[in-house]
Amino acid sequence: MTQYSPDLHDLTVVQLATQLRSRKVSSVEAAQHFLARARAHSDLGAFLDMSEDVTLAQAGAADARLAAGPAGALVGVPLAHKDIFVTRDFVSTAGSKMLAGYRSPFDASVVSRLAAAGAVTLGKLNCDEFAMGSANENSAFGPVKNPWDNTRTPGGSSGGSAAAVAARLTPAATGTDTGGSIRQPASFCGITGIKPTYGRASRYGMVAFASSLDQAGVLARSAEDCALLLSAMCGFDPDRDSTSLDLPAEDFSLKLGDAIDGLRIGIPAEFFGEGLADDVRAAVDAALKQYQALGAQLVPISLPRTELSIPVYYIIAPAEASSNLSRFDGVKFGHRAAQYTDLNDMYRQTRAEGFGDEVKRRIMIGTYVLSHGYYDAYYLQAQKIRRMIADDFQAAFKVCDVIAGPVAPTVAWKLGGHGNDPLADYLADIFTLPASLAGLPGMSLPVGFGADHMPVGLQLIGNHLTESRLLNVAHRFQQATDWHNARPQGV
Ligand code: GLN
Repeated sequence: MTQYSPDLHDLTVVQLATQLRSRKVSSVEAAQHFLARARAHSDLGAFLDMSEDVTLAQAGAADARLAAGPAGALVGVPLAHKDIFVTRDFVSTAGSKMLAGYRSPFDASVVSRLAAAGAVTLGKLNCDEFAMGSANENSAFGPVKNPWDNTRTPGGSSGGSAAAVAARLTPAATGTDTGGSIRQPASFCGITGIKPTYGRASRYGMVAFASSLDQAGVLARSAEDCALLLSAMCGFDPDRDSTSLDLPAEDFSLKLGDAIDGLRIGIPAEFFGEGLADDVRAAVDAALKQYQALGAQLVPISLPRTELSIPVYYIIAPAEASSNLSRFDGVKFGHRAAQYTDLNDMYRQTRAEGFGDEVKRRIMIGTYVLSHGYYDAYYLQAQKIRRMIADDFQAAFKVCDVIAGPVAPTVAWKLGGHGNDPLADYLADIFTLPASLAGLPGMSLPVGFGADHMPVGLQLIGNHLTESRLLNVAHRFQQATDWHNARPQGV
């Protein structure tokens, strides 16, 4: 084996895969390299669990596959999983004290699909507790630092995934997006992320938050990498997720080379209103100009219920969460209080000790909006408006092919910057929630820097099942620009 490059961590997944296949580097060497980097940058708080033995055993098996002859693109490629996916060989906590030290008897479908494709798991990545949050500050295991500025949030809830990819501690990571948790951290950390259409990836083994919204996706450096990983992790899971879509496997890389001239990009007026910070607006505007230079045309559109997506989401998501989280009762798995008087007291103490503030807040809101007398006033109304939000998108897609706008109103804020004001976090989700409520695919790609040299992402939203097109639109931008190759100093 030739001596591999010391800058191995700067390679994209596609580049690293080429080196693995040509045997310039072995999977074991690559895994060792990334594990060493993860350990050296443990101060970022990105990883929650690593196991060198497990990782190197997987890498060794991948090397055997590579040696045996032509192998698939992901064989031997290291990656890491958001800790919301359960894994047999690593601890799975979902960022909660409730599941501290928990070991699952099985792998999530997304994890087993990537493993079957030959990917090697480096470990588990920090996230907001049960994926509830926008800053990764709701993790029971401490916040994650943004590699571009350690005093700032990496975004959330897939904050560990975004920070680890941006800091080159892993070439790519899985994430989940219920209301923006892939797109927003990707934007805050200057990387590329995609949440596919609801139902594309199986939810089996993804610790449930809001089941009608939860969707797995990828955080990586480029759209090309995202396409490769997404192709491996998506697919029908008939026996295990009844909402997974019954569609043949798709190679999302196939359209990457397509020209985009004549592409109609819808620009929703509501995404460019008052609340949008000037620095974010400037970077997004420049990206849209770049798209025009590539031959796309900008079409003004309206998504009139954008603002309503906040109350609608913050009724529906907590309602589903309150039901999903009832399983954490101290009986079946996870934490159980040491002291209690009777069964009810055991439930009460266990849940009081195991859940953090934000999770408790959502359980209370959720049970309230689902309770008799309030169900019609809140939950049912929210469901109706959710449908109207989805209809607004369908009207927009009659006049445009993709929709573009900011991912978040500002760049990453300071850790602790929103203090004890959960509403400040909720409001910052305004541009990512609409696509989630409509079940649409969305992505974020880096398009420049705002104040204090913090990354800014451009959000692209496509119609259902148009991931290939979306990735192609992002890829063409990345072929013409270099923002996705920018890397933080000091890591
Ligand atoms: N910030 C949103 C929330 O806290 C979205 C989280 C997510 O997508 N998992 O619910």
